[in-house]
Amino acid sequence: FPEDLPSSATQIRVEQTGGPEVLQAVETGLPEPGAHQVLVESGAAGVNFIETYQRSGVYPMEAPFVPGSEGTGTVIAVGEKVESLSIGERIATCEAATGTYSTHFLVDSVKAVKVPDEVSDEQAAALPLQGVTAHYLINSTYRVSPGETVLTHAGAGGVGQLLTQLLKNRGARVITTTSTPQKAEIAQRAGADYVLGYEDFAEKVKEITKDEGVSVVYDGVGRDTFDGSLASLAIRGTMVLFGGASGQVPPLDLQELNRRGGLFVTRPAVHWYLRNAEERAWRFSELFGLLTEGELRLDIGGVYPLAEAARAHEDLEGRRTTGKLVLKP
Ligand code: NDP
Repeated sequence: FPEDLPSSATQIRVEQTGGPEVLQAVETGLPEPGAHQVLVESGAAGVNFIETYQRSGVYPMEAPFVPGSEGTGTVIAVGEKVESLSIGERIATCEAATGTYSTHFLVDSVKAVKVPDEVSDEQAAALPLQGVTAHYLINSTYRVSPGETVLTHAGAGGVGQLLTQLLKNRGARVITTTSTPQKAEIAQRAGADYVLGYEDFAEKVKEITKDEGVSVVYDGVGRDTFDGSLASLAIRGTMVLFGGASGQVPPLDLQELNRRGGLFVTRPAVHWYLRNAEERAWRFSELFGLLTEGELRLDIGGVYPLAEAARAHEDLEGRRTTGKLVLKP
């Protein structure tokens, strides 16, 4: 453990689950890396919807805990068995071993990727989780082909804008939904071909597709959109439920899939699509490649001081944000 390290870290800790106000800053000692881990001084952390589910108790967590799995920064100490990284290197991850809502965090060296010099801290904190999600959804959960028509919700959101851009890059036709005219403009700028409101979106999807329906729906809104998403699918279409920004979807009668045309349903999560070094390298090299070539644009919709993590959660849950939210220590 190098001797010239800072003596303390600031963390945002949840002592008890609840509203955004339970996100409180505390001073603590520096975490010490295990044999295969590195200690990172944070440059920025990404805010993701999952942390609101964890903070509020929708996804059970053992308290106290520090939220956040996504962040970037500089390696300041390495475990004794780490060979792939050294002190001074910039890394990013969406699989941190300790919470990234902190000035310092630990990550297993195999789960950290090196960040190209031309990528800023905000970008390196913004890309990993939402980028990998958009990447696995269109490549691995359901592989979209050029010319296919796809429905994806919340097109001005973090995942939404990245999904739309990757889908357009693939040559697909993108239909999306947003809740306000301002958000509709942002979704259009990301490349969406059709931007709908949430009212009667299924009927409009049927009109656009001349009654065929779409071959796949990527739905991260959940409770409020799930039925309409099923109704938007073509025969044998695939329903990808990847989140519940409006609430969790109640249990589903499987006969419903038969009645609606032999549909497929899946509920993926990012860790099932980062299963080994090859998968991680493939997804990150494509994402960083597209970013540095200017083929992928990151919309950083808000940069909040770490101590104001509660405000970031309020804004995200209050549907007031577009693009990606980032915390700066
Ligand atoms: P977003 O930036 O998309 O923010 C959520 C958006 O959802 C809102 O801005 C809002 O857009 C829309 N929304 C619709 N209904 C509601 C509601 N009742 N309350 C709040 N928001 C609502 O967030 P992210 O990009 O971070 O995440 C999007 C979804 O993807 C989340 O459900 C998240 O859990 C999921 N996710 C899943 C992953 C996985 O691997 N399974 C990984 C990463 C994210 P509008 O106002 O336009 O409707």
